[in-house]
Amino acid sequence: RLEIRNLKRAFDGRAVVDDVSLKIMPGQVTCLLGPSGCGKSTTLRLIAGVEMQDSGTIHVDGNLICDTVTRVPPERREIGLMFQDFALFPHLSVGDNVAYGLRKLPRAERHARAAELLERVSLSQYINAYPHQLSGGEQQRVALARALAPRPKVMLMDEPFSGLDNRLRDGIRDDTLRILKDEDTAVLLVTHEPEEAMRMADEIALMRDGRIVQQGAPYNLYTRPVDLASVSFFSDAN
Ligand code: ATP
Ligand code: MG
Repeated sequence: RLEIRNLKRAFDGRAVVDDVSLKIMPGQVTCLLGPSGCGKSTTLRLIAGVEMQDSGTIHVDGNLICDTVTRVPPERREIGLMFQDFALFPHLSVGDNVAYGLRKLPRAERHARAAELLERVSLSQYINAYPHQLSGGEQQRVALARALAPRPKVMLMDEPFSGLDNRLRDGIRDDTLRILKDEDTAVLLVTHEPEEAMRMADEIALMRDGRIVQQGAPYNLYTRPVDLASVSFFSDAN
């Protein structure tokens, strides 16, 4: 599980992430939803460890990952990442892309886990293919398999569907959700689309100007918006 408490980060004196707290249980998907520039990606970067907070704490499964003194490096945080551009390694086969995060495992185990993940995302037949030979949706699934292969306790996803063809997106969202639920990882998914959050989230954290202004089950946010700005955010986007 992921727990962040009172996370803050300012750039040039302006608070971009302002006292953000979240708790996400294994198997739960929380969507960080908000307009462009509200601080969503910065929040993910702090949790991933590629950016350092000014104050606040991050725990994974109860272990302190980061405060102002302790700083576990990104590669040891047991956090999986997935971004809008899937950033597959073009010179590696699909199988080697998925096995990439498993370099420390013995060869046989590495191959077995990569094969298992590719089967999970229904791409076993492409294990020896190269990324450019796959469609956008297929590449997205390879990226998901690669991120999940090391069994991360937390998955951070930043607009992972925005580069995809409209006609494919809903199907890929549903497939992704099913695979994430099977892996029983805690998921923080960033989006600026209310529709995506409504479809995928167990819980939505609505963010504005660096702060979480409302948090709860999708239905509650939609039917009981906290203020007029939230009403217009939900309705403008639809
Ligand atoms: P979008 O939906 O457009 O991706 P976002 O919610 O992910 O937006 P962030 O990328 O977190 O927003 O950026 C929030 C604000 O912080 C922006 O105004 C951005 O310019 C600013 N910002 C982010 N990183 C830095 C940085 N390294 N230095 C200065 N300002 C930054
Ligand atoms: Mg962003």
